[in-house]
Amino acid sequence: MRQSLVIANWKLNGNLKLVDDMVSALASARCSADVVICPPAPYLAALETATQRLNIEVGGQNCSVYSSGAYTGEIAAEMLAEVGCKYVLLGHSERRALFAEDDMLIAKKVQLAQQAGLTAVLCVGETLQQREAGKTLDVVKAQLSEVLNDVDFNRLVVAYEPVWAIGTGETATPEQAQEVHAAIRQYVATFNTDAASKLALLYGGSVKPENAEILFAQDDIDGGLIGGASLNTDQFLAICSAVK
Ligand code: PEP
Repeated sequence: MRQSLVIANWKLNGNLKLVDDMVSALASARCSADVVICPPAPYLAALETATQRLNIEVGGQNCSVYSSGAYTGEIAAEMLAEVGCKYVLLGHSERRALFAEDDMLIAKKVQLAQQAGLTAVLCVGETLQQREAGKTLDVVKAQLSEVLNDVDFNRLVVAYEPVWAIGTGETATPEQAQEVHAAIRQYVATFNTDAASKLALLYGGSVKPENAEILFAQDDIDGGLIGGASLNTDQFLAICSAVK
């Protein structure tokens, strides 16, 4: 039995008021999933302080491919760990598309994150064009393979996020999501069978209170990576409560 996990990705949104509101809301919520919040970096410290007595972890949305040096604007994995992060999102489709991150760079970041003691949340997923061309599984496996060649499975979560479902209001059907999740687990098993059965696989892409329960009820879906709906306390709590 795998522990469920729900991760909030605030992207470039939120403020200190949302930190307070979300923590207060979660403090009085009943939720059997582990919960992680990934705010913009300037709010990490406030969030970490506010969640100290709660069962909520804090994560970064990205980390640098460098550990230190003259790289203005970058944030190292060790720095995230030092301010209390336990997780970091890596390979999000927005980073791949808007910041030209490729599989090699992402694999390097995963290694640095894990060396710093963080759990890397590796995001994978196909574009609409790739899905329509019948290439979904090939694309996802290619995104995974670079990372899986040299990874600490104890510090890895994989999030399947079809690009066409992110922020669009269009969600993969439970069957579509389960099919890819099962294929990911099978593919991971070709690297490490035991790790594959224990690996947390999250679905992301327009998860809302109305569709969370049916998505999370699928055999190979262990929770969600939530963007837009994680900015609304009522919606995020409802999604957290929908886990099996
Ligand atoms: C995301 O960006 O990781 C995401 C899943 O966004 P949304 O829930 O808004 O589709």
